[in-house]
Parts: sequence; C-alpha cells; structure tokens
Amino acid sequence: MSELDRKRIQVPDMERPHVVILGAGASLAAFPPGNKYGLKLPLMWNIVDVVGLGEMLDEAGITEHRDDFETLYSNLVIAGEHPELVRKIDSAVFDYFASLELPDEPTLYDHLVRSLRKKDVIATFNWDPFLVQAIARSQDPDLCPVTLFLHGNTAIGHCMDHKPIAVGARGNNCHRCNKPLQDSRLLYPVGQKNYASDPYIAKSWELLQRFLQDAFVVTVFGYSAPVTDVEAVDLLKAGWENAETRNLEEIEILDIREEEELYNTWEPFIHSHHCRFPTSFYNSIIGLSPRRSCEAMWATLMDVVFIEPNPIPQDAGWDELDDYFNILHEDEQNFNTQTENDF
Ligand SMILES: [Zn+2]
Repeated sequence: MSELDRKRIQVPDMERPHVVILGAGASLAAFPPGNKYGLKLPLMWNIVDVVGLGEMLDEAGITEHRDDFETLYSNLVIAGEHPELVRKIDSAVFDYFASLELPDEPTLYDHLVRSLRKKDVIATFNWDPFLVQAIARSQDPDLCPVTLFLHGNTAIGHCMDHKPIAVGARGNNCHRCNKPLQDSRLLYPVGQKNYASDPYIAKSWELLQRFLQDAFVVTVFGYSAPVTDVEAVDLLKAGWENAETRNLEEIEILDIREEEELYNTWEPFIHSHHCRFPTSFYNSIIGLSPRRSCEAMWATLMDVVFIEPNPIPQDAGWDELDDYFNILHEDEQNFNTQTENDF
C-alpha cells in the first residue's frame, strides 16, 4: 500500500460498526473438505447421515424426511410422541458440532476475526465452534469483534442466575458467581423458533438490532435467509428498516448463488442502499481493507476517492499473517495515543 493511501484510510477513525451476519455458507468456505480428523460439516439436508442419527430414527420407526432435517425435527416436536428420541437427537447433534475443530493452518475464519475491530460485530446462525476457536487463537482476542450467537453455539456457555447474563467458553465457570456455565441451547431450524424463549438468544437479537441501527456497513455471508426462517428475517428487517432511515450506507451479500437470485432474496432489505455482491470473501470490503472496512467504504462513498486495496495475504502462514496484521494494530495504537493526547 502506498504511503498516501495508508495515511488516508489507515487512520482508524470510524467508530460505527461493520456488522457481519454469518450462515452455513461461511463455515463451509472455511472448512471445505472436513476437519483435521476427517469430520464433515453437517448441513440441514445431510445432518442425519453425517451425525449418524439413522439408527435411532430406525428404532423409533421414523422413515420420512431424512434429507430435510428441518421438517423431520419440526414434525417430531409438534407430534410430541417421541420426547426421548428428541432428547437423544439434541444431544447427538450438540456433541457432533462441539467436536469439530478448525484445521491447524490459517482458515477463512482466522482471516475474518482478525480483519474486524472491537467496535465491529459478527452475528452467526452457526452452531459450530469455528468462530470461537478462531478468536481464541488470534493474536489478541481483545482486538477481535463482538460475537453474537443467534441460534446458540456449541463452544459457549452462559450463566443466567443474574443480569447481565454471563457468557464464556463452554466448560468454564461463571466469572461473576463462579458456578459452572450452562451449555448453550441450540435453536433448531423449525418454522416457529420463538427467539424470545431463551434469554441468551433473545439478548443476542436485541443487541444485533441495536448494532444494525448504528452500522455503516453490513455484510451477509453465506446466509440464505430461508423462507422457514420467518422470525429471523422479521427481526433483521426491524433492525434494517431503522437503519435505512438513519445510518446504514452499504450492504454486501457474499454468497455463491446467482446475483439475480440474491437480489430477489434480499430485495426487501436493500431498498435504496448501495449493495454489492462479491463472489469471494477475499474480494469483499473486509477482505480488501481488513480492519479498515468502514474507513475504506467512507472514502469510496463519501470522499469519492480510489482506495488502493490492502488485501489479506490469503495463503500466508501464521508468521506472515501476524506480521501483516501487526502493522494495522500498530496504526490503531498510534491513533489511540494521539486521541488520548488531544484531551
Ligand atoms: Zn453466574
């Protein structure tokens, strides 16, 4: 990056958040062939096979909808005839996702969590532990964005004995009352999710809506906004609509589907906002201007200047990756010092 551009956008002076919403497509992109033990990432159409639920379904005489977990699970819960089977499925699915581990080398998740700042937010629909693992192995978790788990997560636990709810890594004790943290409840993909029924999940949605109101850029990564996700879409819309009349300047939809299909899916959200459809994370605003995505977007939209990209070294090993991000951290520290001296 030239000195001129570095000066122009490397100053981390934007305080408004970049909100990133992750769906299964993001985890697939970070974890394509399965993890280091050969485990595969389950998706709703193959979860019965991948997690190995076939035998318990056979025993209960359940044969239909095995390639559509959403319908299968929804029917089981609504019928109410197999509470023990539902409990066994819950526990098998939880244990499988909890056992997944990122590969040893840097992945897209490592790039993503290092490329956003503390003021930014990653809200994920995914149950897998990748986001938490990537933050834990980053240079400094304190430099990473806020995380919200919209459907619960297998890597976190919480204590609801007091307010605010305490959240931490699964298996740890509560930092406030020292009791063991309770496993997060996974919210299943059924038509009526009832987000309000779980206090942690309800709080996550409330925070997401607040962040959406302040957001300067929103990136939706690999989340297909399924029609059955009525409640999720309504909640996103509520945050978005407020944003439209106020602050939101740019929406980015990162998805492998055709642009026309994406536009149709997200049209109600796009309104008059600028919208872009990069085909890869590495061509996205975050991938091209890590830790300065909102500054770069401001320069492009408001100052109408050309910003030379500062792309993440996609194939770099850990040392090179650390060196690359250290320069950005250094500028942030310098900026913090300067700001403090101003007073
Ligand atoms: Zn507690």
